[in-house]
Amino acid sequence: MGSKRLHQFRLNARELLRQPGLDKQIADTLPAAELGVDDDRIVGEVTVDLIAISSIDGIAVTGTIALPWRSACRRCLAEVSGTTVIAVDEMYQDPADAVLDDDAFEITGDQIDLVPAIREHVLLELPDDPLCREDCAGICPVCGTDRNHGRCDCDTSVRDERWAALDQLRLDDD
Ligand SMILES: [Zn+2]
Ligand SMILES: [Zn+2]
Repeated sequence: MGSKRLHQFRLNARELLRQPGLDKQIADTLPAAELGVDDDRIVGEVTVDLIAISSIDGIAVTGTIALPWRSACRRCLAEVSGTTVIAVDEMYQDPADAVLDDDAFEITGDQIDLVPAIREHVLLELPDDPLCREDCAGICPVCGTDRNHGRCDCDTSVRDERWAALDQLRLDDD
């Protein structure tokens, strides 16, 4: 069953390149496991909605990948879920026809397999440590109260500063 579905994500490169301006739609869903991604944060199927358009320079593939996920808030551990929509903009080029762009994929045979690019996007865009909401108050490190729902009188000022510092690091990282 797997190979049949994955077949949808193969393009006939020769046919597209023979006729600049030709396009081909690739729209399907598939389980992450078939992409070769084994990650229990992904729930349900990945939705791929792409269009390949040929030009004299190569084949441009654009569109979106919708990635449904579920994870735990990094502060309060509540379940967080969402769908990340990933913008795709890739170029596939045949080195025999064109000087390769820096980030282009090389067309090596008659077909283009889109799965490696899709897998790469999915792995890059899975949320590492989401928040349930921007201002999640987290769990009190002293008494364990979920401060989104209840209050306590513990002195946690030191811990709060550390969070702020971590958040700042993350922002600098982006
Ligand atoms: Zn939270
Ligand atoms: Zn407390």
